[in-house]
Amino acid sequence: MLYEFLPGLGPRTGSDGPLADSSSKILLIPGFLAGDASLYALAMGLRGGGHRVFFAGIWINIDCPRETIGRLTRALESAFERDGRKVVVVGHSLGGIYARELAHRYPQLIERTILLGSAIREPLDNSNPFVRMWFMATRRRHQEGGTCLNHINSLCGAHRPEPVAEIAQTIVYSRNDAVVDWRSCIESGPNIEAIEVRTGHNSMPFSPEVLAIVAERARWAGVGNGRAH
Ligand SMILES: [Zn+2]
Repeated sequence: MLYEFLPGLGPRTGSDGPLADSSSKILLIPGFLAGDASLYALAMGLRGGGHRVFFAGIWINIDCPRETIGRLTRALESAFERDGRKVVVVGHSLGGIYARELAHRYPQLIERTILLGSAIREPLDNSNPFVRMWFMATRRRHQEGGTCLNHINSLCGAHRPEPVAEIAQTIVYSRNDAVVDWRSCIESGPNIEAIEVRTGHNSMPFSPEVLAIVAERARWAGVGNGRAH
């Protein structure tokens, strides 16, 4: 289920050592139609900075969002329980919507969320036709009746419109996104920062500019995380 990213060794279930003072645990969540491998470059950079990077084992992100959020919840809990320190959750595209929803549900487990090109405001209305078609095509039947299409506004319960009040959230957006409307990526609140980058939607996880933003916040989290409790 949860695995630690270790370049050269491939996925495995990590063993634990104590973290360095400025290190964080980071859970990475891929976007629509993407898998964990789409975030390996970002993972490599973060791991090079001394952070521990985890994935939930998503090879292609096409399940009903309700099932995916369950899987991510188990991964988050597992990462947290390794040493009882809070986790930084980073999501690309749809993955950022999941990261934000995890913060709504489990604020006690999360230090900060970082959303990369995530259309959090009306996610389907503000995405390009390809994304919408994809969602229509991969609908699943829900236990209580209907399919994913009947729950489209909430992404099958994996998305709610209001911001997360208590958890710091970093929004990374681009006017050159070309997949989602950058305006739909932005929301405001006391714990929210929005940072503009120049890279396009799909290349965000490969961008040195984005890596620098994520790495800096991971360091902040590492310095503050787990010591006040
Ligand atoms: Zn569904």
